[in-house]
Amino acid sequence: MGSFYEESQMVVKRDAPIPPPLPTTARPGMAVLRRRSCRASASTTESWDRLFDDAYRADVSIYTSSDDIIYAHSSILGLASPVLRGMFKRQSKSKRFIVPIRGVPPEAVRVFIRFLYSSCYEEDQMEEHVMSLLVLSHSFVVPRLKRECEYQLETRYLNVDNVVDVFQLALLCDVPRLSIICHRLILKNFKAASLSEGWKAMKESHPILEKELLATVAYEANRQNEKVKKANERKVYLQLYEAMEALVHICRDGCRTIGPHDKLLNEHQEPCSYEACKGLESLVRHFAGCKLRVPGGCVHCKRMWQLLELHSRLCVDPNVCRVPLCKSFKEKTRRQKKKDDMMWRILVRKVLRTKSITGAPYFSLAASS
Ligand SMILES: [Zn+2]
Ligand SMILES: [Zn+2]
Ligand SMILES: [Zn+2]
Repeated sequence: MGSFYEESQMVVKRDAPIPPPLPTTARPGMAVLRRRSCRASASTTESWDRLFDDAYRADVSIYTSSDDIIYAHSSILGLASPVLRGMFKRQSKSKRFIVPIRGVPPEAVRVFIRFLYSSCYEEDQMEEHVMSLLVLSHSFVVPRLKRECEYQLETRYLNVDNVVDVFQLALLCDVPRLSIICHRLILKNFKAASLSEGWKAMKESHPILEKELLATVAYEANRQNEKVKKANERKVYLQLYEAMEALVHICRDGCRTIGPHDKLLNEHQEPCSYEACKGLESLVRHFAGCKLRVPGGCVHCKRMWQLLELHSRLCVDPNVCRVPLCKSFKEKTRRQKKKDDMMWRILVRKVLRTKSITGAPYFSLAASS
């Protein structure tokens, strides 16, 4: 659990790299499971199941939490689990071996032992005891069953109600892939997950883990906010770029009712392809007629002044440009204070980068430097 804690601490403190894509459900080498999952032939399975059910010449007594005894064979159990093999080795002097397995439901122990015999389980048993089976397969080092439980949880049984429990188990049983999937599910459904019984239990038993989870949730929320903020910023720069394009188009070709004095305009022509034209047309009209036509005057005029200045800073050739004041703004730029000039340069770069248009017809980065 320590490693996860340290890892997510880093996540909170540093700028995290982009996480890998969520694992897909298809996993190589994993057999498709059917009811009464099994990979051996039916008759072989039957023999193994009978050996377990009849306990013929069984020499192991497994004590469960309800003091039920499950009988089994040390040779089979020892083959399937190195941990059980070690236990039998330590008890080699006695004729019968004793194995206590408590802390999980007796039925789960029975399913576990049966799997060691025939590698089979009933699906409803897996559904009911999957978490206990994960713990047992981890504790007794039975990788085949552990993978099976992991797969079943990932693909079928993991949900918002049990995700906090499964997350803790995944950390405890060292199943990193499952713990990542749980963590993402918690982040995605934080509200529901935080109301689950599992969360309440975790709050009591692992307050540090709860704190840690809350920190990653806050980090994720912050990351999302930043993303939205960046997208909005990009939108503003994109609109500015489009306004710049439309401005050149209006002053050079004219658009519907407004344009250069030497052009005849058709009021009934179709709307042009420049989205920004409509808004810009009314702004230009206002600018032409406004009595407060000074920088810092009316808010619309102020906007127009800014657009004209931005254009001038983007314009490649003011000598042939037909946008009003383009040349005089270029002159003004030369005399401007360094600090103001820097602000404009930053804006120009952002507008240009948003559209990635270094080879665009009217504007270039070179024009801004
Ligand atoms: Zn137009
Ligand atoms: Zn005005
Ligand atoms: Zn110009």
